[in-house]
Amino acid sequence: MLLASFFSPKRLSVKMMRVVLSLYLTVAFFVTALHFWAEYQRTQSALTDELIGLEHSVHDAVATSLWQMNGAQTEALLDGLLLMPIIEGVEIRDPDGQVAFEQRAYQEGSQPLDLFYVDQNLSWVAAGREVQLGSLRLYSSSSVIFERVLFGFGMIGLGAILKFTLLWWLFIWAFRRFLGAPLARLTDQIGEIHLERVGDKRIDLGASDRNELAELQERINAMLDKIDQDHQRLIQAEEERRAWLESEVEQRTKQLVEANQELDRIAHTDYLTKTDNRRSFFEKAQSLIDQSLRQPGDLCLIALDIDHFKQVNDSHGHEIGDQVLRAFSQQVRTILRKTDLFGRIGGEEFAILLPDTDQQGAWKVAEKIRRTVEQTPVVCANTEICYTVSMGLVKWESHETDISALLKRGDDLLYQAKHGGRNRIGCDGGDALRASDGNGGNA
Ligand code: GH3
Ligand code: MG
Ligand code: MG
Repeated sequence: MLLASFFSPKRLSVKMMRVVLSLYLTVAFFVTALHFWAEYQRTQSALTDELIGLEHSVHDAVATSLWQMNGAQTEALLDGLLLMPIIEGVEIRDPDGQVAFEQRAYQEGSQPLDLFYVDQNLSWVAAGREVQLGSLRLYSSSSVIFERVLFGFGMIGLGAILKFTLLWWLFIWAFRRFLGAPLARLTDQIGEIHLERVGDKRIDLGASDRNELAELQERINAMLDKIDQDHQRLIQAEEERRAWLESEVEQRTKQLVEANQELDRIAHTDYLTKTDNRRSFFEKAQSLIDQSLRQPGDLCLIALDIDHFKQVNDSHGHEIGDQVLRAFSQQVRTILRKTDLFGRIGGEEFAILLPDTDQQGAWKVAEKIRRTVEQTPVVCANTEICYTVSMGLVKWESHETDISALLKRGDDLLYQAKHGGRNRIGCDGGDALRASDGNGGNA
């Protein structure tokens, strides 16, 4: 498990540990090897000293047996030396350097890794002079050194393994405690934050020290503050934009309603005289008749036609004719009530519908129009244009459900007024009305 995670690390701590440990192992290997080598050298030097000491201690015994040429004793001495645990071999050489006696503690062919030795001259003093007998050579080996240092080496190895293991767990623990756990907390807390509604959510790693993590926490929180502020700004901008859009839509709707009203007004208004046009007059008159059918009341219609209007055009021009039509409309409008209906239904033909007005009242209105027109010439380009108007006046009968029928009767009486000499009012029972009015209407 530990090894598997070491070779394929998923956690940052293990990955870092792998790097640190690889370096540590490499360095530790060389240091330990150096340690081993130094220990080896020190032990070898100690063994060499021991060998020299031994040589000194056996010198006299060996020199005596050689001087006496006692081979058996010499062999016995060498056997004794071989029993010493630090000695791997013993040689005695003659003064010419040739091996005279030789003993080995190891078998031929299984020579130790490294053999080292110390030499000592063997001499004998006879008759006051020193005689050279040869030399004594004592061998020791790496095997002896290894036996000596085995425990020390073991302790060094064990120490290295213990140090390595302790380092491993300490590192993992420290990493998780000071870095892994705060990072995991950071990951969790960041996961809980929704960037579109940051609100008062902030990162809290519980770090009391001013270290890199505290700085990271501070930076992330500053970033969250900024995101929150930007978000609030965006929301505010969005609300302002929406309010602006709503007011814009409201304003445009108002303009549209006004434009529609204006269009409606244009569609129902005569462009020249600004009175109701034919269509509008017919619609409104029909609705007044419908109303009178439900609630019977007096309703009178006056059909008007300007007399000899063609001559006005012919004499003064079409433009002047238009001005006369406009002046006529204004004069009539001043005479009528607001509730009266007045419309231009043809070129110089007009109609008036008078609600809540009996025939007598209608006659008075018609007569006033006739007289006013007759007495009020239109002044155009320093020219006075005198003109008159003829009218047909009818009272609505309750069986007349359609405005056309009423208008037809009005036209008929208007026709009569034209034939009667113009500038007059055609009306059923007109004489009586004229008499009661006490005025000089000419019909
Ligand atoms: P009457 O007394 O029999 O009504 O004679 P009149 O000449 O008025 O009748 P007529 O129907 O023969 O002629 C009407 C004239 O009104 C013809 C036309 O040129 C003129 N007219 C119609 N509409 C307009 C208009 O909008 N502007 C002007 N200037 N003249 C118009
Ligand atoms: Mg006409
Ligand atoms: Mg006319």
